[in-house]
Amino acid sequence: MDMNRDCGCASAFGRIEALVDGQLDPIESDEVRRHCSACESCASELDVVETLTSRFRAALAEQPPPGLRESIFANLKISTDFRAPN
Ligand SMILES: [Zn+2]
Repeated sequence: MDMNRDCGCASAFGRIEALVDGQLDPIESDEVRRHCSACESCASELDVVETLTSRFRAALAEQPPPGLRESIFANLKISTDFRAPN
């Protein structure tokens, strides 16, 4: 078994976020994924980054809850109706 061809933790770990972001070319992606399949700590980092990234994207895709806009405008109306005594 030739483990010396593995790109190594430092190299793989530093590219995990880029991999999840789709910023690596296919050869680099393959290197990092191959390392992760053989290395438990990098695999768990990859797992965490993938989970966080998908949650973050889901959160961005969500619409604000109904009523939020109305409550913001209601608060604005209160403050603009307020007249400070001169
Ligand atoms: Zn590793």
